[in-house]
Amino acid sequence: MDITLNDGKTIPQLGFGVFQVDPDETERIVSDALEVGYRHIDTAAIYGNEVGVGRAIAASGIPREELFITTKLWNSDQGTQSAFDAMDLSLAKLGLDHVDLYLIHWPRPDLDRYIETWHVFEQLQERGLATSIGVSNFHENHLDRLIAASSVVPAVDQIELHPGFAQGPLREYLAGKGIATEAWGPLGQGKYDLFGMSPVADAAAAHGVTPAQAVIRWHLQHGIIVFPKTNSRERMAENFDVFGFELTDAEMAAIDGLDQGLRVGSNPDTATF
Ligand code: NDP
Repeated sequence: MDITLNDGKTIPQLGFGVFQVDPDETERIVSDALEVGYRHIDTAAIYGNEVGVGRAIAASGIPREELFITTKLWNSDQGTQSAFDAMDLSLAKLGLDHVDLYLIHWPRPDLDRYIETWHVFEQLQERGLATSIGVSNFHENHLDRLIAASSVVPAVDQIELHPGFAQGPLREYLAGKGIATEAWGPLGQGKYDLFGMSPVADAAAAHGVTPAQAVIRWHLQHGIIVFPKTNSRERMAENFDVFGFELTDAEMAAIDGLDQGLRVGSNPDTATF
């Protein structure tokens, strides 16, 4: 299933993320994911595994236009020349002439360089090196500034999002601006007992699926773009097999009720890494 972005391009709503996938294992793991059927891969310069992603793409023989590849500019590369250089390096590591989506990884408001960096992203898009451009971990105030100062509205904002941290107000803001929401940590990164919570466990049992499948379905039915990570081929297949059932409105509402501000990652307003 595809989502159409505000620049007219489409993105597969379900993909595969490779945060914390060991660089030495990335080629094998991404090859497995491509064999399972994933066509959307989410990586980042800071993950150190773009080379492995690129090798898996090359080995797969899958036509480039059937793949959707996202990478991200790391914080220390915000700026003008450094951002151009970082894009070149990411493309070289991936072995690609363009990515489908390039993201500013974190706003780092303390650096105050994300608007300058966004102007580079606009040029990267014009030159065809990044088909779509977007941001990650941006809050309303960061986006308000960025939109006021530039001519391209980001296609996506990739944010921490899972039932315990459902980001309702930010999702509403993004929808109002025509910016697609992407979830990172969609399964809560395994950092709290999401799968044991009764709305998730009950919905899974009712449909004869696993709790992970119920949570991924919750994201999809909310229109969120999602790319769970796993090293296990079995779980890759499980996480991809989510189109044969539908959560009821009551099940969706019960899972919505798990929202409790349970942030498992860093706060973009204060992060300084
Ligand atoms: P996820 O919420 O996807 O959780 C991954 C964890 O869940 C792993 O420990 C994995 O274990 C486990 N898991 C996966 N599938 C199952 C399953 N079916 N049953 C039980 N456990 C499962 O966290 P991520 O942080 O990886 O988020 C997804 C992607 O989002 C990342 O890979 C990355 O691409 C992106 N991301 C972006 C960030 C940003 O700042 N923009 C920050 C963090 C992530 P195992 O591998 O052992 O199966």
